[in-house]
Amino acid sequence: MNMRTGEPVEETAPPDLEGLLAAQRRAVLAANPPDLAARRQSLDALAGLVRTHREAMIAAVSADFGNRARQETELGELLPLMNGIRHVRRHLKSWMRPERRRPGLAFRPASARVEYQPLGVVGILSPWNYPLFLTLGPLVDALAAGNRVMIKPSELAPRTAELLERLLAGLFAPDQVAVVRGGAGVAQAFSRLAFDHLIFTGSTGVGRAVMQAAAPNLTPVTLELGGKSPVLLLPGQDPDRAARTIAMGKFFNAGQTCVAPDYVLVPRAQMAGFAAAMLRCAERMYPAITGNPDYTSIITGRHYARLVSLVEGAVAAGAGVRRHADPGDAGRRLFPPTLLIDPPADSAVMGEEIFGPILPLVPYDRVEDAVRFVNERPKPLALYCYGRDERQVAEVLDRTRSGGVTVNATMLHVGQEDLPFGGVGESGMGAYHGREGFRQLSHARAVLRMGRFNASHMVAAPYGRLVRLVTR
Ligand code: NAD
Repeated sequence: MNMRTGEPVEETAPPDLEGLLAAQRRAVLAANPPDLAARRQSLDALAGLVRTHREAMIAAVSADFGNRARQETELGELLPLMNGIRHVRRHLKSWMRPERRRPGLAFRPASARVEYQPLGVVGILSPWNYPLFLTLGPLVDALAAGNRVMIKPSELAPRTAELLERLLAGLFAPDQVAVVRGGAGVAQAFSRLAFDHLIFTGSTGVGRAVMQAAAPNLTPVTLELGGKSPVLLLPGQDPDRAARTIAMGKFFNAGQTCVAPDYVLVPRAQMAGFAAAMLRCAERMYPAITGNPDYTSIITGRHYARLVSLVEGAVAAGAGVRRHADPGDAGRRLFPPTLLIDPPADSAVMGEEIFGPILPLVPYDRVEDAVRFVNERPKPLALYCYGRDERQVAEVLDRTRSGGVTVNATMLHVGQEDLPFGGVGESGMGAYHGREGFRQLSHARAVLRMGRFNASHMVAAPYGRLVRLVTR
């Protein structure tokens, strides 16, 4: 990293990606797939690593951000990671068990089952915004499924990437888990490797490039992408109550969260009351922005400048603006919570994922207008609906699409180990966490074992009466 500008620079000696992949592939072929005990051992080792180096991890992430609230690293990264490991460990035995299926009548005696086999070598490309959870989380699922893994963490969180490289190298041989570091050039070369599966977490634009790079190898991809996750506030909600969990979701990690509420659809009559409640809430949660250890910095000056221009553009286009009383600190990249009221639908802030503590409030007249607003845009990663009328909430859920949903709160569905996490449409494809993660990174192999005395063996040319009997 360039220490003066804080911007990443390309590694001078690019890692030997092909060599690492070849070594992992050789190791896959040289041994039987790891059994339950070996997989549990890897998971335990990883959990031990996190426990031992917890403070170093928290410090590295904070240094990468400038300031990252330590509780946000604990709550948003380490807690879900450790819960995930515990859940996978507990259920792995039953997930690995082959599933009995029923062979067709004409093929009996025989037995049929689905066996979950490791895919081989899995690649993980991860972003900077939760550099621990979004790197080690996919690793947990890949190891649980018995794979070998190559990881390319984000160059925008260089200290965390360095730490992960060092710690994982102390735990795993390079032919089991290898971390490579580098910028976009290394990332591109990484995405062109002939993995057995590639999990990419990042922006939708780069996700497209990754899928294209994987296509010539027919490498299957899981794409965990971003987008604009809406909040739909149904009429009659208590504004203070709703504001509390919306503010938590929006200002956590200063809005740099893939499932952060991007904008709120507010009943027109409630707009003034809700805007006031949101601002009150932001000022209560963060009495100061500058010097407040609970408030996280924007990752780089370039990202900060983009947020400034999003607000300026929306205001110039006629949006109302309400800012936290503390204007923040551009030098330390502390961007204050900012509400934009009724920004034009064609302003940049309503066109791109915000990824910062700016919250557009969009008025609507009828619930069906709000649902249409959501459906006219790409399918989001998350949708949040606030309402106490079960029927009305169910209707909103039925008539919209999104990767996941939390009702009457934000973000919490992601922390459920027993729920799949993934997007749909432009917010991604495939899912991981828990059983879905195990299955995503295993090959469900169909295995039919024929009994010795089996009439189907008699079906062969020259075809006679028997074939007519079978095909009738
Ligand atoms: P990004 O797409 O810029 O980068 C992600 C990773 O891709 C990095 O490791 C980077 O080195 C690599 N990369 C960059 N250019 C590449 C290329 N041409 N080919 C291959 N790889 C390349 O994303 P980011 O800025 O690090 O993260 C923010 C984005 O990630 C947001 O859009 C956010 O919504 C999304 N995100 C999604 C999830 C999820 O789980 N769905 C989680 C966190 C973040």
